[in-house]
Amino acid sequence: MTDKSAKPGMKPQPMTAAVHAGLAVDAATGAIAPNISMSVNNAFRPGDGAFSAAEAGDLVDLPYLYARWTNPTVRQLEQRMAALENAEEAMATATGVAAIAALFLGTLKAGDHLIISDVCYAGAREMADTLLPGFGIEISAVNLSDLDAVRAALRLNTRLIHAETPCNPLLRLTDLAELAVIAHAHGALVSVDSTVATPVATRPLDLGVDFVIHSLTKFINGHGDALGGILIGRKADVARIRSLAGVYLGAAMSASNAWLILRGIDTLFPRMAQVGASAQRIAEYLSAQPKVIGVSYPGLPSHPQAELARRQMNFFGGLVSFQTRDPHRLAALMPDRLRYIHYAFSLGHQRSIIVYLDTAEMMASTFKLDGAAAADYRRYAGDGVFRLSVGLEAVEDIIADLDRALAD
Ligand SMILES: *Cc1c(COP(=O)(O)O)cnc(C)c1O
Repeated sequence: MTDKSAKPGMKPQPMTAAVHAGLAVDAATGAIAPNISMSVNNAFRPGDGAFSAAEAGDLVDLPYLYARWTNPTVRQLEQRMAALENAEEAMATATGVAAIAALFLGTLKAGDHLIISDVCYAGAREMADTLLPGFGIEISAVNLSDLDAVRAALRLNTRLIHAETPCNPLLRLTDLAELAVIAHAHGALVSVDSTVATPVATRPLDLGVDFVIHSLTKFINGHGDALGGILIGRKADVARIRSLAGVYLGAAMSASNAWLILRGIDTLFPRMAQVGASAQRIAEYLSAQPKVIGVSYPGLPSHPQAELARRQMNFFGGLVSFQTRDPHRLAALMPDRLRYIHYAFSLGHQRSIIVYLDTAEMMASTFKLDGAAAADYRRYAGDGVFRLSVGLEAVEDIIADLDRALAD
């Protein structure tokens, strides 16, 4: 979790940036904590260039005009996330899905081809399948852990490859550095949804990727009380997307959510250290249970890409997926048997959450895979997986909860 390129006194270590980036002592009040700025508009002088700069998405001189572009509190969050990803620029959005929509609609046009990870956040995959073809965009869903499959899927008009690593819910990985080499040689861009990894585990831009997306709703805020998303990349690219899809989609982040998420990020590093250590122990515990027939966690030696995980991740994240015998009966028992772990959707909060994702249902609703792609999904997920998002409870209590659930 240390950045060897950060020399003391120069660029701060990521852990330091997590509590300092985007902040300055407030000139008016001397406040050292972020003061929330709720104003929707800020006064400006006609003709000083601020308006045209903002319209072009160029916010370097902080021309706050209207909060759909950004707002001083939202800007602090954007600067902090850019620092954590070692990026030039970031654009916050109301949700993670809004960041993905801004990326797709700001990057792709009719006649372009998108390659999307065949398994990724359901909202992204469904958006690509149901919305984009109507705008004349061609879509291929490809297993991005198989780089030969990526090479085979490239077309002359491939404009963007959208990855997610580790991908939800399989926790299968994509080699981002290799993917970027393949894409760039072909003149295509690479985006990655890094929500599950967080910048604590992986900094995709350092590996050559062009755009990073996060749902800030998850580990980055980490408290389950604010929706948010962010698009991160080069200044010119993010400025262009802000001026088009960002502003016209209208899914701007609210100042109050930015303030909550800034506060969440203050503890991102210690939270992820705790969550990663607990998840490793829980993955090992589950691997030893007779009723458990498969565990996917990038930190286990049994993970098919354990070597890539060690190369690409500083720690192995807070999600563990596992298969059991008789999963439907177990899922039905869980809400009553679990004392601390909530049976619910979503992930990345301070309280542990579990949900069962049935393979046949996921195929029908979202992934629609067949042949080799379906076989690879089943290699990780069998007939279905319990996706456990590890929280900040004592690991002994989480394991005791799982023990109660797995009892006869
Ligand atoms: C939750 C999630 C999203 C969507 O984020 P929202 O903030 O709910 O819109 C995108 N990608 C991944 C990997 C997620 O887990």
